[in-house]
Amino acid sequence: MKNQYTAVIVGGGPAGSSAAHTLAKSGVDVCVVDRFRFPRQKLCGGLLTQRAKKNYAAIFGPGWDEMYEHRCDGAKFFDGERLVNSIENYGELYVCDRSRFDARLIDKSKEHGAEFVQGDKVKAVDLRHRVCKLQSGKEITCRYLIGADGVNSVVANAIHNGKTSRNGKAFALEATLPVAALSREIAEPEIYFDSIDWGYGWIFPRNDVVVVGIGGLFSKNRDFKANFNTFFRDRFGKAFTGVVKGHFLPFGEYSKRMGRDGVLLAGDAAGLVDPITGEGIAYAMQSGWFAAQSVLEALSGKTKNVNAAYRKRCAVITGELAYAAKIRNFLFSAATRALFITALARSSSAPYRYMDLMSGDITYRELLKNSGRKLIRMVASKIAGK
Ligand SMILES: Cc1cc2nc3c(=O)[nH]c(=O)nc-3n(C[C@H](O)[C@H](O)[C@H](O)COP(=O)(O)OP(=O)(O)OC[C@H]3O[C@@H](n4cnc5c(N)ncnc54)[C@H](O)[C@@H]3O)c2cc1C
Repeated sequence: MKNQYTAVIVGGGPAGSSAAHTLAKSGVDVCVVDRFRFPRQKLCGGLLTQRAKKNYAAIFGPGWDEMYEHRCDGAKFFDGERLVNSIENYGELYVCDRSRFDARLIDKSKEHGAEFVQGDKVKAVDLRHRVCKLQSGKEITCRYLIGADGVNSVVANAIHNGKTSRNGKAFALEATLPVAALSREIAEPEIYFDSIDWGYGWIFPRNDVVVVGIGGLFSKNRDFKANFNTFFRDRFGKAFTGVVKGHFLPFGEYSKRMGRDGVLLAGDAAGLVDPITGEGIAYAMQSGWFAAQSVLEALSGKTKNVNAAYRKRCAVITGELAYAAKIRNFLFSAATRALFITALARSSSAPYRYMDLMSGDITYRELLKNSGRKLIRMVASKIAGK
């Protein structure tokens, strides 16, 4: 490891490796620092949408089929025991093991010459001089710094002067169980809307294991462990006895500044997670890629303001997340939740429209425009008692 680079990236998750790959491929002197040695554990459902697939292809090129463990035919949506709706013969949902997924991405960026310093934590950041101070006592200086260090980002914390709140975040609990330990077969992802307030529960198949989790807005829930235990017992007819782990994730609040003075925030560090579905992997890759493109633009002299160039690129993500946050009020609030479930149960096309959205073929703005009219008709017919 040198003590000076053109670009340093804190965090080797999907955001960090996407940025590193893009920069290294263009010949930029780049170093990624991660606190853990890879492959490392990352608590995550590992569900990958077509959006993730498209972003992967744009950034890393071929090889998608080596990135996931399980390809799903469809998905099922429940309200309690009741199957509300389902997606069949879709085939474009994937489940990955995040420790392998992330390690493969970082390997791809190393192949292009990115340096990877693992097992050393960035303890503090001097934003003005762009210096990272590591746990080992080493210091690295750079021209451009990308904070891709997840939901508890040390870089974001420095940018926001420590003013980040847990209330706008979600908390999630998850357990991974061998298939043999469960009473029934899980062939497709199952989503349960009633398991937690302002969130949902999930059961995802991943070859020989099943991932079971619940996640919801931190400020709207009290006892996540009790929710998880009830969810597990109701789904599998027995008490949960294994190991369950918890982690925060961004859920509706993203950074408006996305960085400052040559420091850029990407992925969870910038809050880029869908506030309805909790999808974050695709946005992490996309924002890491955008951060690197903005740095390349600054290095070539095409822009003088790397932060403005980055914010502009990210508007395609943040605009969508803002719309999703509006729609969420209808889906999750106690007053309208039942209407949403009824609408979902009645519509044969709704889950497929949502898949179009998850693949980036339509936007939340278009979905809101479309569904808005249908909902007004539904509310009117409910009031009229039809
Ligand atoms: C329980 C749960 C389930 C989820 N399920 C899904 C899902 O099914 N599909 C989906 O798309 N998204 C899911 N998400 C969200 C998804 O996991 C994140 O959005 C995604 O991991 C963000 O990627 P990232 O690269 O920004 O950050 P991360 O993947 O968190 O990577 C950050 C990296 O930074 C490193 N780091 C942190 N601090 C430091 C430091 N100080 N110094 C050096 N290194 C540091 C970490 O070790 C880590 O490797 C889930 C999240 C949770 C919590």
